[in-house]
Amino acid sequence: RGGKRMSFATERVRVAVRIRPLVAHEADQVPSVRCIDRGALEVTTPSAGGVSTIKKYDFDLCLGPSSTEDSVFEALGAKALLDRALRGIKATVFAYGATGSGKTHTILGHEREDFESLPVSPGTDLINDRDGLVARAVKYLYQTADSDLQIRASFFEVYCESIYDLLEPNATALPLREGQGGFFAPGLSELDCHSSDDVEAILREGRRSRRKASHKLNRDSSRSHALLVLRLSHGAARGRVTFVDLAGNERLKRSKDSDPRETGAINRSLQALGKVISILSRKEDQTEHVPYRDSTLTKLLMDSLGGDAATLMVACASPAAAHVDETLCTLGYARRAR
Ligand code: ADP
Ligand code: MG
Repeated sequence: RGGKRMSFATERVRVAVRIRPLVAHEADQVPSVRCIDRGALEVTTPSAGGVSTIKKYDFDLCLGPSSTEDSVFEALGAKALLDRALRGIKATVFAYGATGSGKTHTILGHEREDFESLPVSPGTDLINDRDGLVARAVKYLYQTADSDLQIRASFFEVYCESIYDLLEPNATALPLREGQGGFFAPGLSELDCHSSDDVEAILREGRRSRRKASHKLNRDSSRSHALLVLRLSHGAARGRVTFVDLAGNERLKRSKDSDPRETGAINRSLQALGKVISILSRKEDQTEHVPYRDSTLTKLLMDSLGGDAATLMVACASPAAAHVDETLCTLGYARRAR
């Protein structure tokens, strides 16, 4: 801890927190979260009687509201992670947090269609700094590996424990099968990519079908996990990088108007994931039972987590006082994962 950036030289699981800037409709809000150090933050909670309590949390890394996308990519140690993926390990990057906390922004980048959110605080430049972790990672991979790299990409959603291909948007739910190396979804599209432009085109297409599915099929994208899996062939090495934009973790407020089946599935899979990650981050030798089979998400990730894999979780949170309860939930989960 406390280094200039997170190190992935040996670590198996790293957890970072990213506090997004206040956005336009929160202009009148007081920030309740403050990064006080590279690895620590403070949350102010109003309690009964008008007295507020301040709680301090330690993480591997805390990224504040003025962090640029580029500085996030650097500080997370993404390059070391990708270097290892090029040498054949499996790397997984998760964004965890409530709906509206900045998960999609962090992983997939700023949506061109998103006009709602001109950030209030300085330091963000949504015109020149709109690429998220995926676009930066892919550029880095192609640059580093030269012409020696082949990427096959799939992009899909897990919604109510079912798998939906985002690159074949009219397809119905795909089955989940268990094979030798783990679970897989037969029939899921996998596209050959030759450049970062190819991957970005896949990203755009997938995001478009995610939006469409949420309008037409009432499959609210904040209620689904989106997974982008990049299989790398680099010389003889076969690595993999998986990016997961997790479903919103909120439980109480929103669950009133949402399908209880949906909420149950989300809670179950996020809980299963939290358990899996916390076991993996604690243990050097895996004798403890790792509950991969408790959800579709963890089944799919069974052969990506564990072993000599590397896992990075970015817990996302809004600084707004109105979201402080959600933020505390998110920080609690992130701390248990570590
Ligand atoms: P989530 O995917 O967690 O629901 P989003 O990524 O959609 O959240 O972010 C919610 C809103 O906040 C969006 O309008 C997004 O553009 C904006 N936003 C999130 N993170 C940032 C950031 N770091 N800088 C500027 N705007 C952001
Ligand atoms: Mg989102």
